[in-house]
Amino acid sequence: QGASPAPPDGHPRLTVLSGPSGVGKSTVVAHLRAEHPEVWLSVSATTRRPRPGEQEGVQYFFTDDDEFDKLVANGELLEWAEFAGHRYGTPRQAVLDRLAAGEPVLLEIDLQGARLVRESMPDARLVFLAPPSWEELVRRLTGRGTESPEVIERRLAAARVELAAESEFDTTLVNTSVEAVARELLALMGIG
Ligand code: 5GP
Repeated sequence: QGASPAPPDGHPRLTVLSGPSGVGKSTVVAHLRAEHPEVWLSVSATTRRPRPGEQEGVQYFFTDDDEFDKLVANGELLEWAEFAGHRYGTPRQAVLDRLAAGEPVLLEIDLQGARLVRESMPDARLVFLAPPSWEELVRRLTGRGTESPEVIERRLAAARVELAAESEFDTTLVNTSVEAVARELLALMGIG
């Protein structure tokens, strides 16, 4: 547990933030990047439709099934996973380029994706964002107000499974406050 030392060659490691949907990963990441824009965040491809306010190339690259199939077939994704009926994946080349340039790189992905990154990049630092309690997670998943009851039920089922995976991660951060978690994550990455 805790921060691992940098590898001997001094290259910054890839940091993967994962955890149940609704735990607040994207809020933490948004706060962190507002304070530290030099932390490069990978923009994923997804087959889910944009939510109100989401923009192409900002939160996600929105694709249809055929486009996503091509990304997979061409080996363009570092990892991908199906989550709540949609596919999500991390474009590979941009991540490798940033790491090669010595920049800190952050991925915000689901648990299955985190496992795949661990296999392909054993150096990656895997950080699990945990809710303060199960009740709080249910409250957050239910309260977003943008999803249908069926979607929320699917996400709760996934969250139950995901919570059990905490022990597979290098570090757990409990999301008691956005500011505190963002600070802890930066410290793990050796920034701030
Ligand atoms: P949402 O639809 O709420 O934006 O995201 C649903 C889940 O997909 C979240 O847990 C999010 O972290 C995850 N996710 C987003 N992008 C990726 C990705 O590129 N790969 C994987 N494996 N999961 C992702």
